[in-house]
Formats: sequence, C-alpha cells, structure tokens
Amino acid sequence: APSGAPLPRERQSVPRACTAQEIERFFRCCSLSDLEGAARKVCERVHGHAVYLRGLIEFTNYCTSNCLYCGIRRDNQKVRRFRMDEGQILDAVQQGLSMGFKTFVLQGGEDPRWTVDRICRLVESIKAATRNRVAVTLSCGMKSGDGYRKFADAGADRYLLRFETSDPELHVRLRDGQTLDQRLEALDHIRSAGFQVGSGFMTGLPGELPETRLDNILLCQSLGLDMVGIGPFIPHPDTPLAGQSSQGIELALQGTALLRLALPLAHIPATTAAGSIVQNGRELMILHGANVLMPNMTPEAFKKSYLLYPGKICIEESCARSLADLKESLFDIGRALSFERADAVKLAHWR
Ligand code: SAM
Ligand code: SF4
Repeated sequence: APSGAPLPRERQSVPRACTAQEIERFFRCCSLSDLEGAARKVCERVHGHAVYLRGLIEFTNYCTSNCLYCGIRRDNQKVRRFRMDEGQILDAVQQGLSMGFKTFVLQGGEDPRWTVDRICRLVESIKAATRNRVAVTLSCGMKSGDGYRKFADAGADRYLLRFETSDPELHVRLRDGQTLDQRLEALDHIRSAGFQVGSGFMTGLPGELPETRLDNILLCQSLGLDMVGIGPFIPHPDTPLAGQSSQGIELALQGTALLRLALPLAHIPATTAAGSIVQNGRELMILHGANVLMPNMTPEAFKKSYLLYPGKICIEESCARSLADLKESLFDIGRALSFERADAVKLAHWR
C-alpha cells in the first residue's frame, strides 16, 4: 500500500507532537477555545485548508456481536437486516468514482456471510474495476491475524477498528465480554499486516470518568495511529443503554483538539455522530482539528436500516445533495473539499 500523500510546497516543517505530559496539562488546564485555536493552527500547517473525502459504504447490518451501545447489535430484533451483494457494492463504488471519490470505506457488522475470503474477492474486484486508482479501507470488526493479512494481500489499504474506550472494565461491560486487550491485540495484527491503521473511541459513554477521556487520547498517541475516528455516544432506544443521557458535543470537540496536538499528522474525520447531535457538529469538529469527511454512499434503500443511533443525518438525502451542502458549509468556514486519496502522512515524506 502507498504510504505517503503528496504534500503542498508550503509545508516546511513538521509541527512537534505534544508530549503526554503536555497533553495531560492541556486536558486539565485549557479551555475549549484555547484548545481549538492551537489545534486549528497545527491542522492548517499539516493539512492546509483541504478537507479530504472518503465515500462510506455500509454494506451489511448483520452482526454476531452484541455491543451494548450499538443499534444494530445482534439482539436488537427490531432492525430490518440487509446485506449488500458484490454487484451492489461495485455499483456504489463506480458511482462514487464518477463523482471524484478516490477512497472508499467499507463498513459493516461482523457478518458471518461476508467471510474473510469473500471480502478479499470483493477488494480485488474493486481494485480491478477501478484500475487500482482507489484506496480501500475496511471496517468490519474483529478478525484473526491471518484474516487481516489476507485482507492486506488482497489489496486493502487501511483498516479502522476503534478501541471504543480505554477503560478495561467499561470496555468488557459495553462490548459484551470482549476485552480491551483483545481489541488492542487485533490492532497489533492490523499494523503487522501492513495497513494504515485507524482507531478511536466514543465520547460520553455511560460510566466514563474524566481520567478515561485523558487516557483515550494518550492511548491513541501511544498506538501511533494514522487515522483517529471519535464521536459522541448517542443512546439508541432499542439497546440496553436506552435512557442513558447524551453528553453533547463538547467532549468530542475537546477530544478532537487534543488528538490533533498529540498526533499532528493523523487523519481525523469529522464524524456523522457529531453532525447528528448538533446541526453544525461536523463543521465544529473541523474547526477543532479534524480534516476528513466521510459522506454516506450507501444506497438509499439500505442506509435507513444502518441506524447505530437515532437521529443519524444524511439518510434521507442523496450523496450528491450531502456533498453540495458540505461544500457550501465548508466554504463558510474557509475550507475546501478535496478528492485526493490522502494516504497516511509519513514523516519521511516531509521535505
Ligand atoms: N462492526 C465494526 C466495529 O464495531 O468495529 C464497524 C462498524 S461499528 C457500527 C462502527 C462504530 O460505530 C463503532 O466503532 C462505534 O464507535 C460506533 N457506534 C456504535 N454505536 C454507537 C452509538 N450508539 N453512538 C455513537 N457511535 C456508535
Ligand atoms: Fe457489531 Fe460493530 Fe455494532 Fe459492535 S459496534 S454490535 S461489532 S456493528
């Protein structure tokens, strides 16, 4: 997989990553607006004014896992289950390609019908159909070390697997018995397979302590992530966490700003969950240091059934409409959409 995005000429030096001690001090002492200013400067120095686009395809909502927070968990009987087939996924990719997308994220539940070998064949088909012009990111949960290697051998470029929370006790409870160590071991396998690695967490989970929030950031830094996805937890009414309160967007904004200071080169998406609890949530994340957007390219017939949480945005409108709206709202905050494939930025590529 290619490992360096072309960098504009004006990028002369790498902003220094803050140390763990500095991050802890900022976490304890800085106001959100101080963090916002510092993070925005670092983000502009590394990524300029571009906001990179990735087309998100939610290809299955079947899942054998039973995470307490998730609307498509195994035990939610109210979900209308769907599974896209190869032809439908390739059509979505072709449509995205014709709009200019060069990166696609295939996200789904842990679906036993979408086996590792079948996903490998899908990745190969996407690469062949696009003459290797697009980057493929997978986000389909826990696999064996061998499984991740097969994905990489098939040509997948990036893998996203959030650790969800750095608190081991909270993790095992919310992920229905799966331990944080198991999740971190999977991330190790993903790195060893040669992927550009993404992880992250939810903010405001019930039971999360202020220390957890700091530890979440420090864990992302110690993992040396290429991509970090974070977003507010939003309680789903048909899960065991129904009735828990949502902590709003501030914790996600604080997390985004601290992550930008801890990992200046990382690609950090402004997530749909942020835009779902506050109307301008994604724009706010960008102003706090995020530099990626993932418009939803799932066909309209399916995306309404991929409800991880209530109030999810962009399920009633086409991807083209969402893009047009995003272009306008980014212009208003001095940013511009970019269709560059924007691989992980590596130090070696700084001139
Ligand atoms: N199944 C894969 C996995 O769990 O890694 C990928 C799909 S999963 C639905 C993608 C992400 O959705 C999870 O990593 C989690 O952080 C997020 N998510 C699930 N339920 C959520 C909720 N109620 N509020 C906010 N984010 C949620
Ligand atoms: Fe399945 Fe992922 Fe939802 Fe957990 S978060 S239930 S693994 S789709």
